[in-house]
Amino acid sequence: MKLMYINGQFTQGSATEFIEVANPATEEVLDVVPRGTARDVESAVSSAKEAFESWRKVGANERTNLLHEVANGIRAHNDAIVRLLTEEEGKPLSENHEELDWVASTFDYYAELSRHDRGRVIPPGEESQFNFILKEPYGVAACIVPWNYPLLLLAWKVAPALAAGNTVVIKPSEVTPLTALYLAEHCFAGLPAGVVNVVTGYGAETGEPLVKHPDVPVIAFTGSLATGQRIASHAAPMMKKLHLELGGKDATVIAEDADPEIAAKAVAYAALINAGQVCTSAERVYIPKSKAKKFTEAIVEHVKTLRLGNGLEPTTDMGPMIGETFRAKFESHIAEAHALGARILTGGGRPKQLQKGYFHEPTVLAGVDHSMTIMREETFGPAIPLMEYASFDEAIALTNDCQYGLGAVLLSNDPQKVKRFFEDVKAGTIWINDPLTDNYAGPFGGMKLSGGARELGIEGLDEFREVKHVHWDFKLEEKSYWYPYGRE
Ligand code: NAD
Repeated sequence: MKLMYINGQFTQGSATEFIEVANPATEEVLDVVPRGTARDVESAVSSAKEAFESWRKVGANERTNLLHEVANGIRAHNDAIVRLLTEEEGKPLSENHEELDWVASTFDYYAELSRHDRGRVIPPGEESQFNFILKEPYGVAACIVPWNYPLLLLAWKVAPALAAGNTVVIKPSEVTPLTALYLAEHCFAGLPAGVVNVVTGYGAETGEPLVKHPDVPVIAFTGSLATGQRIASHAAPMMKKLHLELGGKDATVIAEDADPEIAAKAVAYAALINAGQVCTSAERVYIPKSKAKKFTEAIVEHVKTLRLGNGLEPTTDMGPMIGETFRAKFESHIAEAHALGARILTGGGRPKQLQKGYFHEPTVLAGVDHSMTIMREETFGPAIPLMEYASFDEAIALTNDCQYGLGAVLLSNDPQKVKRFFEDVKAGTIWINDPLTDNYAGPFGGMKLSGGARELGIEGLDEFREVKHVHWDFKLEEKSYWYPYGRE
């Protein structure tokens, strides 16, 4: 059993029941965690609130060192965490090595940013005055995390929140809480008690009380659109600061000039990494009608070579999906598209050689269109639906024909097309020829229903800071513009 982490202590809290955490590749139970309640949220928030009073005043040197220590702790336990990530989430070891590298480096990045600035000084209106802008922490930040990148999306919230001087209550996904608790034990333990707290449990029983808690002024959430909308409705009456990273339905456009073999590899990576369970997965792929046959064949041939299996095997390219509900939803999108006339060119079923686990074959479809759910709603699985376009104008229109606006990818060496694409596509990140690659200093986030929050970069720090303008007149003396009016 792994316990919650509240006020520097590991505790079962008020839980009388436990949640089983299973390995999606084997369906075996890995461990259990407490099914937390609103009372545990109350304890965690109250310890974070108390810790905030001293944490916000910690000097920049000490805060920076403490955040670097978190990064050092992560690196010191790298192999154990990577293995646990693969066991609880399913993606291959190589992808989890990359995730963990990002996690540690995010703490290093925000460690340094935390001493970089605290606002700015502006020219005063009068000589006898001093005006400056302070960027201040909110207080207790709720960090609510999904299962698909359990530590990366935790780090993108927790590191900037702490760097800005907030304290945090983390609510990991009930599906993948073990790695967050591992971090608490081995990497956050050097921080003062109460600065980081981890409450485990279901969304309705712990996430929701956290969102509604009056002492939690900022809510950082990554997850589905439906949950984000629910959180927003609870937060609105209290005017809480919302930081929402929601769903996506990212388009990849292959331009006529792209090399088919290279484009095939780029598309497969963007669509199938983490078994397609990435908010920025290539969920819709547009290919030019003039060269449709060439691109389709190259993609199908490449996808056929990919190896499915347990992520712990070093030769595995793609692991399982996270669970039965997600696989069933994925299969319903494929089945509907097929029924409406789409052709399945490879994949389309569960692999016969893998009887256990929530595996699904990577599936390439042709003949899809925007009337199908698979081209409109988040499929979140290993599918590559290919739709033909007649002109680049049409490709851009199709890319923008979507309720989400998280990311978009163009594969092309034609600078005119590249410029059109990054100017005319409405999405928070535009990737040209290198899909899904992030940059610590480059803000990540969405437009439209993907939510407007930004993680990483200075923008990611500002999400956890509120702005105060100080207007200071050096001397208290009567002003000519005070009452009474009409003076000479
Ligand atoms: P989810 O919305 O079901 O759950 C996310 C988290 O919210 C979990 O910790 C869950 O317990 C909690 N939660 C659930 N109901 C809640 C409530 N009423 N109040 C407060 N918290 C609640 O999402 P998921 O299935 O874990 O993750 C997949 C989704 O996340 C996909 O839609 C994906 O696109 C999205 N996602 C977005 C990004 C991004 O950066 N935009 C990144 C990764 C994943």
